[in-house]
Amino acid sequence: MANSKFAYVRNFELPDPLLPGTSMVFRLDGHSFHRFSEEHKFSKPNDVRALQLMDCAARTIMEEYKDIVLGFGESDEFSFLLRKSTSLYNRRQSKICSTLTSLFTSAYVFHWKTFFPDTSLQYPPSFDGRIVLYPSQREIRDYFSWRQADTHINNLYNTVFWALVLQGGQTTTEAHATLRGTVSAQKHEILFKRYGINYNELDPRFRKGSVIVRELVDEPAPSETILAQPINNGTSQEPTGLPEQANVASPGSLVASNAEKPRPGKKTKTKSRTRIEILHCDIIADDFWTPRPHLLE
Ligand code: ATP
Ligand code: ATP
Ligand code: MG
Ligand code: MG
Ligand code: MG
Ligand code: MG
Repeated sequence: MANSKFAYVRNFELPDPLLPGTSMVFRLDGHSFHRFSEEHKFSKPNDVRALQLMDCAARTIMEEYKDIVLGFGESDEFSFLLRKSTSLYNRRQSKICSTLTSLFTSAYVFHWKTFFPDTSLQYPPSFDGRIVLYPSQREIRDYFSWRQADTHINNLYNTVFWALVLQGGQTTTEAHATLRGTVSAQKHEILFKRYGINYNELDPRFRKGSVIVRELVDEPAPSETILAQPINNGTSQEPTGLPEQANVASPGSLVASNAEKPRPGKKTKTKSRTRIEILHCDIIADDFWTPRPHLLE
């Protein structure tokens, strides 16, 4: 097609490739969710419906983009790790960042009614997105440790803060003043002595955040079966029954693998299935990572 005389302006669009051989972490965060949570009457300190909706939106983008191997969410934010070797959109930064942010946002709105059947959306929510590149496994591990440590610090503070306000009758200003300068042990003590709350017995969802992991399925089915019909293994309740800590297969989720022997007359490249699981576990210690080397490869 012949270019118009105006087409030269295209040359002002600069390429923005992400450095090859580095790992991408994509993080998004709700825009002004302090206000959004108030206007939609989120329960404090943790509205479970809102957290489940975030998980649902995160799961949606992991089902669409198979190169995302791990997600971690808390409050109004989610982080995603992409396969180091991903060639998604030729590693164009703004293309990846904008499409992922957009899909997450629309999934959040699309599934709102499922989690908030009695609360109508007051205005369109939005999220910011960014991509950070990390050079080695050490930084990836530390990145996710950083986010989970943040989850803990915030949740401990918010749990005591809202106990002082909702059960203790303090104003928010007074509650902040009560907590100023306190260390972790003192917060645990206020919770336990004044309100009989044992922090360590709170829902792990609140203490550990949400870990959404793409697990490799042990026994790959024959490749022709998989390629012919992606299997929906008991996920018929989606999106209403957001699966948690359950072995629920992601529909038709495929990943390249060498697990199957090549057969004569067949393509040698085979596929094995993966499934997406939602956990609320520790991801700081080695226990999470050691059995899942594929996350960091
Ligand atoms: P910014 O636009 O800079 O991100 P923000 O108001 O979204 O501003 P954040 O630091 O992202 O600020 O904090 C998000 C806020 O949203 C929390 O402090 C909390 O008040 C609220 N929030 C998010 N998720 C929940 C939830 N599940 N339950 C209760 N409150 C929530
Ligand atoms: P990419 O993801 O690279 O943008 P694309 O399929 O969106 O791929 P575009 O070049 O953006 O490709 O073109 C958008 C296409 O969407 C159009 O070619 C047309 O087929 C379709 N489309 C968009 N808006 C309309 C519309 N209002 N009516 C009919 N078709 C439309
Ligand atoms: Mg912020
Ligand atoms: Mg925010
Ligand atoms: Mg936030
Ligand atoms: Mg388009």
